[in-house]
Amino acid sequence: MSPEQHDTSGERIAIVGAGIIGCALAWALAREGRRVLLIDRAEPATAGASFGNAGHIASEQLEPLPSPAALRTFWRELTLFGGAVDLPLRRWVPLAPWLARFVQAAFHHRRNTPALAALVAPAADTLEAALREIGRPELLVRHGHYALWRGPHAAERAARTTAAAHALGVRTGPAPRELLQAVRARGGTDDDAAGVHYPDSGHVIDPRQLAAALAGAAFQAGAEFRQAEVQELIPLGARIGVRAEGQMVPAAAAVVCAGVQSQPLLARFGVPAPLTAERGYHLEMPDAPPLIDAPVLHANHNIIVTPMQGRLRATSYLEFERHGAPPDPRKIARLCARLHALGYRCATAHAGWVGSRPTLPDYLPGLGRAPGEAPLFYAVGHQHLGLTLAVPSAHVMAALVAGRHPPLDTRPFDLMRFGKVRTARP
Ligand SMILES: Cc1cc2nc3c(=O)[nH]c(=O)nc-3n(C[C@H](O)[C@H](O)[C@H](O)COP(=O)(O)OP(=O)(O)OC[C@H]3O[C@@H](n4cnc5c(N)ncnc54)[C@H](O)[C@@H]3O)c2cc1C
Repeated sequence: MSPEQHDTSGERIAIVGAGIIGCALAWALAREGRRVLLIDRAEPATAGASFGNAGHIASEQLEPLPSPAALRTFWRELTLFGGAVDLPLRRWVPLAPWLARFVQAAFHHRRNTPALAALVAPAADTLEAALREIGRPELLVRHGHYALWRGPHAAERAARTTAAAHALGVRTGPAPRELLQAVRARGGTDDDAAGVHYPDSGHVIDPRQLAAALAGAAFQAGAEFRQAEVQELIPLGARIGVRAEGQMVPAAAAVVCAGVQSQPLLARFGVPAPLTAERGYHLEMPDAPPLIDAPVLHANHNIIVTPMQGRLRATSYLEFERHGAPPDPRKIARLCARLHALGYRCATAHAGWVGSRPTLPDYLPGLGRAPGEAPLFYAVGHQHLGLTLAVPSAHVMAALVAGRHPPLDTRPFDLMRFGKVRTARP
């Protein structure tokens, strides 16, 4: 039976995109008894950023990246100077409007921090509760994570980071001496080492399994999945038509969760989504032993190494490259060389992966409803925090779709903050 024939009640909510954001929302809606159709061109969490992230539930990252300090110091982070940020010259022109908004957002850092913090701070507890509810608590490990520095300024940098965390109300403790000794031993040097423990964060043992578990719980509650490319969303009075591979699927509402590819689906409704692909890479080290059962950020190199089921996963880079462009083999080789220097056994043969963080210029997500009659919603732009924010955002979106008051003020996340799209609304 075709999807059109299925839907006569008009109650179906279509979710476009089965990354971690779409899967968590499918679960949040289905557990409330909603009829959900999750649509993606690929199996859940296999095509986008949600497959390959660092698995870190970063409940300590309360501040959006654009800030006056970031404007002053970002150049030090460029790959040109050995850092992890790659902003190639040929990308400056296409990225100019995004970069201009980034600079503008830097001056709203104080206003934007509490908005992001309200969503991020409870995220690990919220995910823990969700996993208990679906019977998969083992997917989340609550050992916190560690940031480590090496070299003559290590202790000073750890102290500065601790002070900054405390100013935001984030709990920290010193990294244990045994961990610092193990880092020195592995690296084969006796440089100074210092570190900070964040006890309230966490990590997942496999990001793809997490998305699959949430999607699985949604399917158990009656949600359906359709593998198809969505070409467009069409307003049908107080309903929405989802055109996917030649078929029109009517829905009572649609939610766009299509990661970095969300913009064209929203533009028709006058909703701006100035997303850019902030690409990151990972390399995996099968059967490698972790330093400790928690993610370790090697802060001098901006590499995070996370213990995952049967392997370690090392992630790095912030590359402003076109979504879909081939991975840069030099970055994979450099990541591997740095891992070697840190004492990990790494081989580029275990193919590197690249994925696009969907990032809005102010580093706040886009959560809300399109203006006007069309029941079109969006949950996009989760930047470096999509895994962390998937369940909190899903609870917000489930409330918005149901017409209830959301658990927090969603006005800072309204995409209309970027101004109206010029395209005439249908
Ligand atoms: C290297 C790296 C490390 C990261 N580490 C962390 C971390 O440790 N912690 C954290 O919280 N976050 C992390 N992130 C960020 C996080 O992974 C993302 O924010 C998150 O995955 C975004 O999820 P999403 O569902 O919005 O998008 P995606 O996972 O990209 O999913 C979008 C989905 O939409 C589908 N889609 C798009 N357009 C269409 C269409 N027209 N029709 C049908 N389907 C469509 C795609 O196929 C895809 O499956 C990291 C990201 C990267 C790249």
